[in-house]
Amino acid sequence: MRAVIIGSGIGGLLTSSFLAKNGYEVTVLEKAPYVGGRFTNLDYKGFGLSTGAFHMLPHGEDGPLAHLLKLLGADVTIVNSNPKGMIFYGGKIFHYREGWKYLSWKERVRATKLLLDIKRGKLPVDDPEMSGREWIKEKIGDNEFVDLFIKSFLGWADSVLDVPAGELAREIKAALKWGGPGLIKGGCKAITGELARITEESGGKVITRKKVVEIDPDDKRVVTSDGDELNYDVLVSNIGIKETVELIGREHFDRDYLKRVDSLRPSEGIKYNVALKGEPRIGNTVVFTLDTEGINGYNEPSIVSPELAKDGYTLIMLHHALQSKNVKAEQRKGIEDIYRIFPNLDEEGEILLIQTYLDGNPVNRVAGGQRVEFPVRDVYVVGDAYRPPGGIEVEGIALGVMKTLERLGLGSFEGWYP
Ligand SMILES: Cc1cc2nc3c(=O)[nH]c(=O)nc-3n(C[C@H](O)[C@H](O)[C@H](O)COP(=O)(O)OP(=O)(O)OC[C@H]3O[C@@H](n4cnc5c(N)ncnc54)[C@H](O)[C@@H]3O)c2cc1C
Repeated sequence: MRAVIIGSGIGGLLTSSFLAKNGYEVTVLEKAPYVGGRFTNLDYKGFGLSTGAFHMLPHGEDGPLAHLLKLLGADVTIVNSNPKGMIFYGGKIFHYREGWKYLSWKERVRATKLLLDIKRGKLPVDDPEMSGREWIKEKIGDNEFVDLFIKSFLGWADSVLDVPAGELAREIKAALKWGGPGLIKGGCKAITGELARITEESGGKVITRKKVVEIDPDDKRVVTSDGDELNYDVLVSNIGIKETVELIGREHFDRDYLKRVDSLRPSEGIKYNVALKGEPRIGNTVVFTLDTEGINGYNEPSIVSPELAKDGYTLIMLHHALQSKNVKAEQRKGIEDIYRIFPNLDEEGEILLIQTYLDGNPVNRVAGGQRVEFPVRDVYVVGDAYRPPGGIEVEGIALGVMKTLERLGLGSFEGWYP
C-alpha cells in the first residue's frame, strides 16, 4: 500500500511513523526546507526558540501524544511540570492551589461539585453557541478571579478567550484525567526529529522542498510544483481542511460542506521570547497571568533543556491570544504586560524576538470546539485542523491521529477520547 503524506508537521510525522512501521510504502512531501512545521526548534542568537510551540505538551508524559510516542518506541524525554501551574495575580506569583482563597465557601462547594461532575462525565450539552465562560459563571457564581483564570487558561491552551461549554468541560476533563503539562527535553525538535527518523528507519521517505499543488482524488494522484506525480492508495493531508479542499478543487464538494469548511475559524496569537540573565525564575511550570491585558501565560523551557538558552541566561516564552487584527496595538499591550511581569527587564535581559501567528500561519488552523470530517475516500486530514473534542493543541492532534489509525484498521484507542 502506498501512502503519501502532505506536510511534515507533528500530525503528518506521527501518522507517517505508524504507517511506515505497519508496512506502508510511505512518502512525506514537505514544502519547507526543514521538517517539523510549527513544532521544531529555531536557532536565534544562541537561543533555541521554536517555529511555533512552547516546547511543552499540554498533558506531559501521561497524555495521548506521549502514549503514541511510547507505542512507536520514540526516544523522547518529557518532564512533567511541578507544580502544574502557578498564577500571577495582584502583582504576585503563587501556587495554583492558593487560588481557592479567592472563592467564597459557597463558590468552593459549587466548584468542587462541578469538577466531580466533569470527572464522572456529566458534561454540558454540545451547543456551539453556549459560552464556556458563561457556563462556568452559571455553575460557580460571578467571581472575577475564576473568570480571569478561565480566560487565561483558554488564552494559553487554545489561543482564544472563550470556547463552547462542551469543549471547555472536555478540556478540563482531559486535564483531570492526564494531569498538567510537561516540557520536552531538547525542545519541539526532539519529537519531530525523532518521528522523521522513525519514518525513515522504517523504510519511509521524507522529502523537503516538495510542494504539493494538486490532488486528483479520481486517479489517486498528487502533483508537485516541480512536476512530479505520485500515486497513492492512502493520502494523509497535514496542511489543513480548507487547503486540502483547494488542492482537490472546490467543484468536488457540495455547497453545504463548503459552507461548513468556510465557517471554520483559526486561533491566532503572539509569542514573545524573553532572555533573562542569571538563575531560572519559575522552574518547570506554567504561570497563568491574570493581571495582564494581552499575555495569558508563560513558561521557562530552558529549565529542563539548558541548551535552549545562551550561557548565563534563562529562556522565557510568553503567549498572547490575539484579540484584534491590529497587530501593532496588540504587541504594544503585550510588551506593557511583560514589563508588568518583569519590572526590571531592561537591567535583567531583553525581548529577543516577537513572533505573530495569524492568517495562513495561525496557532491552530481550527480553533477549539469546531470540527468537520473529511468526506473524500482514502483521504485523511490530520493535524490541528482535525482535533477531537477536548484535545488541547498537540494532544488534540494525537487524538485525531488515533481516530485516523482506527479508520485504517491500525489499532484501537477506545477510552482515550475525553
Ligand atoms: C505560538 C504558538 C505556541 C504554541 N504552543 C504550543 C505548545 O506549547 N504545546 C502544544 O502542544 N502546541 C502548541 N502550539 C500548537 C502547535 O504548535 C501546532 O498545533 C502544531 O505544531 C501544528 O502541527 P500540524 O502538524 O497540524 O501542522 P504544521 O506544523 O503546520 O505542519 C504542516 C506542514 O505542512 C507543510 N505544507 C503546507 N502546505 C504544503 C504543501 N502544499 N505541500 C507540502 N507541504 C506543505 C508546512 O510547511 C508544514 O511543515 C503552539 C502554536 C503556536 C503558533
